Amino acid sequence: MAVKKAISSIDLLIQEKKEFRTKVVGSEELPPLIQGDIINRFDRAMWSMLQGDIEWLQAIKRQLLPDQHRTKIVCRHPKKDHDTDGSGQKYCMNCNANLPM
Ligand SMILES: [Zn+2]
Repeated sequence: MAVKKAISSIDLLIQEKKEFRTKVVGSEELPPLIQGDIINRFDRAMWSMLQGDIEWLQAIKRQLLPDQHRTKIVCRHPKKDHDTDGSGQKYCMNCNANLPM
C-alpha cells in the first residue's frame, strides 16, 4: 500500500472513532465522574477505550509521515511520486522523504 493511501485510511479510522465516541458517549471530552452512576462508568470506560485507539492510530500515522530529522533521505523519485500531506508539507509517496517547498 502506498504511504499516502495508508495515511488516508488511518485518517478515516480516526475520524470514525471520534464520531462514534461523540455518538455513543455524547461528548468529545471525558465525562466527569458521577459516583454510583453505572451508565456514567460505562460512558467513561468507552470514552477511554476509544481515546486509546485514537492515540494509537495517531502514533502509527506519525511513523508514516516523513521525518527529515531522523531519516535525512534525499529523494530521487520522479515528480509523479510527490504529494502534499494534510499540513501542506510536500513529500515523496515512494520513499517518504520531506521535499523542499
Ligand atoms: Zn522519493
